[in-house]
Amino acid sequence: MDKIRSERYSRQILFPGISEPGQEELLKATAVIVGCGALGTVQAESLVRAGVGHVRIIDRDFVEESNLQRQTLFDEADARAGLPKAIAAERRLRQINSSVRVEGIIEDVNPTNILELIAGARIILDATDNFETRFLINDASVKTTIPWIYGACVGSYGLTMTIVPGETPCLRCLFQSAPPLGASPTCDTAGVIAPIVNMIASLQVTEALKLLVGKFEKRHGKLINLDVWDWRLTAIDLTMARRLDCATCAHHEFEYLHGKATGAGMVLCGRNSVQINRAAGQSTDFAQLAERLQSLGEVMYNDFLFKFKTDLYEIAVFADGRGIIKGTKEIGVAKTVFNKYIGG
Ligand SMILES: [Zn+2]
Repeated sequence: MDKIRSERYSRQILFPGISEPGQEELLKATAVIVGCGALGTVQAESLVRAGVGHVRIIDRDFVEESNLQRQTLFDEADARAGLPKAIAAERRLRQINSSVRVEGIIEDVNPTNILELIAGARIILDATDNFETRFLINDASVKTTIPWIYGACVGSYGLTMTIVPGETPCLRCLFQSAPPLGASPTCDTAGVIAPIVNMIASLQVTEALKLLVGKFEKRHGKLINLDVWDWRLTAIDLTMARRLDCATCAHHEFEYLHGKATGAGMVLCGRNSVQINRAAGQSTDFAQLAERLQSLGEVMYNDFLFKFKTDLYEIAVFADGRGIIKGTKEIGVAKTVFNKYIGG
C-alpha cells in the first residue's frame, strides 16, 4: 500500500480486526447500497471513508427539505435544486474521498434491473423503505450468493440482520410474506429520529466491514431489534432459524425476481395516474391506515376502497392491495408516494 493510503487509513489499519491485509481487501471491494435516504447516506459515507474501493448507490428519489434532518449527505442547496439523491450523494462522497470510485445511479430497483445493478458486488446494503424491494434483494442475493444486510427504521426503533446465502437464514425464512399494507408505520406517517438511523446503519456497516475483510466468524448472527427512545434491545439468535421449506433459500423459487409476487407499476396513459400492482393475497387494513394518515391529508374508505388525498396526489388502494396514484405519470414517483404513505 502506498504511503498516502497507509496514512489515510492508518487508524483502521491499527485496528487488529482490519489491519493492512483487511484494508487491501476493502480497497478492492465493491459495495452496493440500495436506497439513498437516511440509512443509505450514513452507510455510503462510512464505507467511502473506510476506503471501500467502489461504492454504487441506487435511488430513484429527489432531495427534499424534510430529508435534511437525518439524511447526512444532503444540504439546503441540494433540496432547493431538487437534485436526485443519487447525484447529490455522489458529489458529496467524492469530496469526502476522491481516491475511491463512487457511482450514483438514478434508478428504480426492480426485477428487470437488479441483477445488473448488483453485478460485481461483494456486499449489498439495504437502505430501502419497503418489503417488496427487500424480498427482491433477498431473491437476487440468494441467486447470486452475494451477502446482504437488512436494515429498517421508523420512529425510534430499527431492525437489522445479515444474510449470507448458504450459511444463514434468508429474509423469507423469517418473514414469509410482506406485512399487510397499512399495518406497518412508515417514516412519513410515524416520523423517525436520526439517532436510530445512525445506529442501524452503523451496525450494517460494521457487518459489511467484517464480511469484506473476510472475518465471517465475527458476524453477530442475530435479528437485532433496537429502540433508542423506549429503551429496548432484543437480539434473536438465528442459528436455528433457517427454514428447510423456505421458498427462496431452500427451493430457489425467486418469486420476486421473476416478478410473480410483485407487480411492476403500470402507467395508465392519458389519465396522469399510475397503477401499482401488489403481491397477490396481501391484505390491507383500511382502518389502521386511516388512523395513521388522517392528520396528513383527506382520508375516506369503505369495505372495498381506501382513498387518501394530499395537495399533489390522490392515492386509491383497493382491498386486494392494488393501488392507483393520481397526479403523476412516472412509475418511480408513484412508487415513492405509495411507499411513503401506504408502505410496501
Ligand atoms: Zn430462506
